[in-house]
Amino acid sequence: MNPLETAREQLRAAQKIARIDQGIFERLLSPDRLIEVSIPVRMDSGKTRVFTGFRSQWNDAVGPYKGGIRFHPDVTREEVMALSAWMTWKTAVLGLPLGGGKGGVVVDTKPFSDHELEALSRGYMRAIAPFIGKNRDIPAPDVSTDPRVMGWMLDEYEVLVGEKAPGVITGKPLVIGGSLVREYATAQGAFFVLENAVQKLHLSRRVRVAIQGFGNGGGHMARLLQESGYSIVGISDSQSTVYREEGLDVAEIEAHKRATGSLKKCFGCESLPREALLAVPCDILVPAALEGAITLKNSKEIQAKLIVEVANGPVTKEADAVLFDRGIMVVPDILANAGGVTVSYFEQVQNAMNAYWTEDDVLQKLKEKMQEAFEAVWASHEKYNTTLRMGAYVVALERVAAAMRARGRI
Ligand code: NAD
Repeated sequence: MNPLETAREQLRAAQKIARIDQGIFERLLSPDRLIEVSIPVRMDSGKTRVFTGFRSQWNDAVGPYKGGIRFHPDVTREEVMALSAWMTWKTAVLGLPLGGGKGGVVVDTKPFSDHELEALSRGYMRAIAPFIGKNRDIPAPDVSTDPRVMGWMLDEYEVLVGEKAPGVITGKPLVIGGSLVREYATAQGAFFVLENAVQKLHLSRRVRVAIQGFGNGGGHMARLLQESGYSIVGISDSQSTVYREEGLDVAEIEAHKRATGSLKKCFGCESLPREALLAVPCDILVPAALEGAITLKNSKEIQAKLIVEVANGPVTKEADAVLFDRGIMVVPDILANAGGVTVSYFEQVQNAMNAYWTEDDVLQKLKEKMQEAFEAVWASHEKYNTTLRMGAYVVALERVAAAMRARGRI
């Protein structure tokens, strides 16, 4: 099933509970608009290559479209559309005054020089500039795009419109209007909801955590959890798992990975195959790597009582049913990894005020937002006697439908 069909299936399942107006529901099954662009790039060789890019604007009833830009060879229009739908539900669950959008370019930028990457970034921005704006559609980083790319894109946009417009894009470098905390916001948000879930489940002291993926999401998550007294017993990357029953030293593992490029042969730790991470004895499992990592097969081996989805879509539909039957609670991606977009929203607020908050201010505001969202999702899951995932979808669907009704978009 392609990601767009998956996104639609999830919505249909939520509609069985939420029962919003049929007309609104049908409108939410497709994007408001899909933009396809051609981006010519003069490569260092002197030859011009033309790349295909997309921007999907799913829904803006609550506020301007919001979502990242991905540079990846596997980008498809269906994937971009699905990701823009998920952004719509994510911003709605968090109660942000934003809608959902997503962009992508079909390209492998790994062999690109800095100059080629800059030319592609500026070219994409030139192509989509007529359709975006701080009150229209606000892009951000995603896979293979980063603050540097956002800086080039902002500069190109400002040259086109002839004025400063920092609020048109988020995830910018600090020096041109970025926000503190943005770099680790996804993990920080996931940490706050994990703490809420731990309280609800009455998990005791020395809670053991296993983390799949040791990149931006998983790496910061491991650090934050250890700093708060959790015992990180397992971590995996694309090659292997490192495990220690008494708990790993995250800083040491980080240093080892930096020095050797691998998690293998960490002193005093067991080295296991990559897939073994999912089945290690632990209380909480944090998938922070890939889509579809937890499947029908391996979901039966999971020992954790709680799963917190830092990755997007790490649990397949079939696995979701197994986990539900086994009484394993799953905090869904549209809630758990929404810290990034929430701090993106804070970045825009600071740009609009032209005044900037301290790290503590941002952390406090993020904590409040994540807690509010968690409570709303928890209440919905109890009210409808359903999973947290469906609880979150119902919250999102009801909020977006209310905004559609308020605008008379029926
Ligand atoms: P990243 O590229 O920084 O890190 C990915 C990590 O996963 C790497 O350590 C890699 O080695 C590991 N990995 C790859 N294949 C693996 C496998 N088969 N088994 C175990 N580990 C494997 O990416 P990231 O930014 O941390 O994103 C991870 C997930 O979180 C993605 O699904 C992404 O969409 C989602 N997410 C990230 C953010 C963010 O702000 N970074 C926000 C929302 C959602």
